[in-house]
Amino acid sequence: MLEFDTVPAARRPADERAALLVDPGFGRVFTDHMITIRYSEDKGWYDARLEPFGPLSLSPATAALHYGQELFEGLKAYALDGGGIGLFRPEANARRLNATADRLAMPRLPEELFLRAVRTLVEADRDWVPSGEGQSLYLRPYMIATDPFLGVRPSSEYLFGVIASPSGAYFAGGAKPITVWISQEYTRAAPGGTGAVKAAANYAVSLRAQAQAHDTGCDQVVFLDAVERRWIEESGSMNLFFVYDQDGTPRLVTPPLNGSILPGVTRDSVLTLARHRGWTVEERPYSVDEWRADASSGALRETFASGTGVVITAIGTARSKDGEFLVGGAAEGPVTTAIRDLIVGIQRGRLEDPFGWSVPA
Ligand SMILES: *Cc1c(COP(=O)(O)O)cnc(C)c1O
Repeated sequence: MLEFDTVPAARRPADERAALLVDPGFGRVFTDHMITIRYSEDKGWYDARLEPFGPLSLSPATAALHYGQELFEGLKAYALDGGGIGLFRPEANARRLNATADRLAMPRLPEELFLRAVRTLVEADRDWVPSGEGQSLYLRPYMIATDPFLGVRPSSEYLFGVIASPSGAYFAGGAKPITVWISQEYTRAAPGGTGAVKAAANYAVSLRAQAQAHDTGCDQVVFLDAVERRWIEESGSMNLFFVYDQDGTPRLVTPPLNGSILPGVTRDSVLTLARHRGWTVEERPYSVDEWRADASSGALRETFASGTGVVITAIGTARSKDGEFLVGGAAEGPVTTAIRDLIVGIQRGRLEDPFGWSVPA
């Protein structure tokens, strides 16, 4: 078994850490340590380290910098109400990392090693797990191609790493419904492409649309399918749900995993919990026209988005070149709140966890 060598970091003083944890925002504060593991075709995975958080030294010819052979994951460690630290479904992230690695011609990382890497980092930096409401320690595993070679082919050397970032609410403004921009000009993913895996490149191609969303006063972009530009796929880094009422019980509609939609762990958690509660769940193509028509008629009750960063966020307004329409109220709807409370309750160890999703860090 590959053991981690420890290079201890100079820990920041408790008062400095406490000040940073009051309002850490998202993705700008990092803990004292990080994980790195190297890979080469000859040695396999080797040189696993827990070391001080700091810059990587890379050749300017490093393959990842030129051709984007790079992937990432995202999961969170939570302070449990009863004490201790929990991880939410980390083995799902380990599996998805390998699905991404397969698609990008990168080596698989044993799930056991992924989980140990994450736990080693959380253990070293456990004082950095914030315990305030809505707070968590965001964990960012990544893998990059490190051959110092400009030829276009899969690299023979890789670096896997994990960094950790205490985080508060993902969107500034907390739980108020967001406004989305439906991009009719740009797409994120196409059939046969990489939309269903967490390739870093998917984000590079989404940023122009995201910037356009911001320019039009929206918080996030919603992408349509690349072929017909008609079917709703997902939001920037979130899966989408449309909430109807079926004789007093919620009915959830979400686009199916068609090969260009990212299979979110939160998406799966929402679907599983909804079914568990006896709600109706439909995974089927859902068009912009249906969204607009049902929002206008009132048949559509709520729209929300799901992802590890935000957990669940309500969508209040959808805007596009053709105008805008309300897809929820000015306030978050009851189904959105209920599903968030369920997931957060399990993550924080407050509610019964029927599927064993919260595991000790
Ligand atoms: C990561 C991601 C999601 C959400 O996945 P979770 O596992 O729920 O965090 C949704 N869409 C895209 C494009 C993503 O990259």
